[in-house]
Amino acid sequence: MQQEVKHRKCTHCDYQTTYKSIMDRHINSVHFGKKSHKCTLCDYQTARKYYLTDHMNCKHLGIRKYKCNQCDYQAAQKGAFTKHINSVHFSMKEHK
Ligand SMILES: [Zn+2]
Ligand SMILES: [Zn+2]
Ligand SMILES: [Zn+2]
Repeated sequence: MQQEVKHRKCTHCDYQTTYKSIMDRHINSVHFGKKSHKCTLCDYQTARKYYLTDHMNCKHLGIRKYKCNQCDYQAAQKGAFTKHINSVHFSMKEHK
């Protein structure tokens, strides 16, 4: 028997499933859905501090150091910008 059914247990609650995709969805919707980082200046909320910092810089401080030349995306942090390029643009096709 090569295919062994693995039981995945949520690290945040008692939820269990055999499928990773379902577990990911569970964690994202149930646990990461708790957007703990809230902007103090507007209604923006995010589960990641990283995004909140970027939001603050972009929306409220006007710091937009990185502008995508392929879409309207702008970021204040190089990390966020690199991630955008990689996930949005590089995932389509490799650039030569
Ligand atoms: Zn859970
Ligand atoms: Zn805000
Ligand atoms: Zn872009």
